[in-house]
Amino acid sequence: MNTEKVSLEAKSPFELRVDLGTGVPETDVRSALASGDLGFLHSFTTGSAVDGPGVRVVAWTTGCQFRCLYCHNPDTWKMSNGIPVPLARAVEELGKYRHGLKVMNGGFTLSGGEPMMQDRFAVRLLSAAKAMGIHTAIDTNGFLHSRLSDGDLESIDLVLLCIKAWDPQLHKKLTGAEAGAALDFARRLAARKRPAWLRFVVVPGLTDRESDVAATAEFVAGLGNFQRIDVLPFHQMGRFKWKKLGLPYELDDVQPPSPETVERVCAQFRAVGLEAY
Ligand code: SF4
Repeated sequence: MNTEKVSLEAKSPFELRVDLGTGVPETDVRSALASGDLGFLHSFTTGSAVDGPGVRVVAWTTGCQFRCLYCHNPDTWKMSNGIPVPLARAVEELGKYRHGLKVMNGGFTLSGGEPMMQDRFAVRLLSAAKAMGIHTAIDTNGFLHSRLSDGDLESIDLVLLCIKAWDPQLHKKLTGAEAGAALDFARRLAARKRPAWLRFVVVPGLTDRESDVAATAEFVAGLGNFQRIDVLPFHQMGRFKWKKLGLPYELDDVQPPSPETVERVCAQFRAVGLEAY
């Protein structure tokens, strides 16, 4: 497929995109990852009001080492599902929005997938955004934070960090990965006084346990650099992707949390002095 012809812009990240990067030879993928000259993107979307402050342009990367049971974008797990995009093309795309983003006090958010799977591309794209005077944010599970130097962190104005689960066993069950890295990253950001927001997905029967929420809230409040908590109710909007990709979806019977549960979780964060929405 000629990926030059695939639009970088999507109406939303819920557009299913697969196999757009399979034509790129493995050696090219490796050298692109090492240099950041080329990235793999699901899409760019515009007008988001939920991925950082103000109105955001969001670039959705492909590649993720987690396998969250509630993931609403499983087509971003495989890097080769993304469009191979030269860094210059991504910067040019972003440049189209620079004036509008400034007028609207918005910015650029790099999300995914997991953007740090493509850490060189991520840092170079975020640095280019900053050089254009655009506010930058990265939405990450934090697992690969050691790939970013302290200098790299300067290209990120705001980290949107997702702590998936407090309990290590639950974390493993929920994501397939060991817990701990996100907490280490949170501590590192705090030590460097880097602004962060927490993203906390409420999944009934999994992440809504009162004691786990309380422990997460206390941990985050103790760090002092988390400006806001986004409490995100689980939803079923990504279910169709699991089905289309032939992936076994374990949360078929899970309902979104009740408004009372979401409010209780928000209240737990507020009780320790955090701003939660
Ligand atoms: S970290 Fe994000 S992209 Fe990766 S599996 Fe979890 S929800 Fe999906």
